[in-house]
Amino acid sequence: SFHKSKGQHILKNPLLVDSIVQKAGVKSTDVILEIGPGTGNLTKKLLEAGKKVIAVEIDPRMVLELQRRFQGTPHSNRLTVIQGDVLKTELPYFDICVANIPYQISSPLTFKLLNHQPAFRAAIIMFQREFAMRLVAQPGDKLYCRLTVNTQLHARVFHLLKVGRNNFRPPPKVDSSVVRIEPRKPRIEVKQKEWDGFLRICFNRKNKTLGSIFRQKSMEMDDDGDDDEMEVEDGEADGVQSEFKDKVLGVLKEGDFEEKRSSKLTLQEFLYLLSLFNKAGIHFS
Ligand code: SAM
Repeated sequence: SFHKSKGQHILKNPLLVDSIVQKAGVKSTDVILEIGPGTGNLTKKLLEAGKKVIAVEIDPRMVLELQRRFQGTPHSNRLTVIQGDVLKTELPYFDICVANIPYQISSPLTFKLLNHQPAFRAAIIMFQREFAMRLVAQPGDKLYCRLTVNTQLHARVFHLLKVGRNNFRPPPKVDSSVVRIEPRKPRIEVKQKEWDGFLRICFNRKNKTLGSIFRQKSMEMDDDGDDDEMEVEDGEADGVQSEFKDKVLGVLKEGDFEEKRSSKLTLQEFLYLLSLFNKAGIHFS
């Protein structure tokens, strides 16, 4: 029996498994990280394609089943199974990650991979369709959002394959997509906390103009209970409020951002706007 809470939807279509491995571009020299191997349908093909597979699986019953499946086969000494929650596991070195993951860990797992060093070549991951479309969205697309920009800051993301729910047992409630995530080399360095605070404000209402968002934000500082406030380096007593607002709007004007909307800004424009704020002594935390 399968655990719904662990997102156990097993890939039952062997042609699809083949196609994922083929599109992943696994090399015979690759150390492969697999997350959530389950009963090992994907693991088997990965062992045939690469040099070594390191698989992280949370469910001890699945770990046992996996070990039984490969015991005594020529593959067994090239497979390492780590039992545990991938989000709490220190990841080993790997060249490529290929995984059909439980969808509830999509977001934290993506960020864990994006922060992993040294950067791997690519991660080929099955996500819920809508999550996948958020990752690959471009400025102006309906699903373009904070997750998109945060992900594309550290990686280029490509849509590889649409996968219908009936390829799984039991079938999940939603369709899926396989995407390819390629970490940028070199990394774009930002102060992560500040970048986060900045994007939270920008995407607070992504279809409003930045002028109207920041006009409101810089007056209220903290209107919605989040702690995404702006800080001026030289203090923020009441008296400097309107001066601060002018400074913020001045920056928007300088970069010609007043009438622009986050839903249409490119990654480069976000980076540029933040650099203008910083140059003016305005920081986000
Ligand atoms: N890879 C297999 C396949 O394609 O048939 C199974 C995929 S199934 C969608 C997800 C697998 O991830 C399950 O085996 C589940 O037990 C495991 N899992 C769930 N949460 C996990 C976590 N936090 N860390 C590692 N594995 C997890």
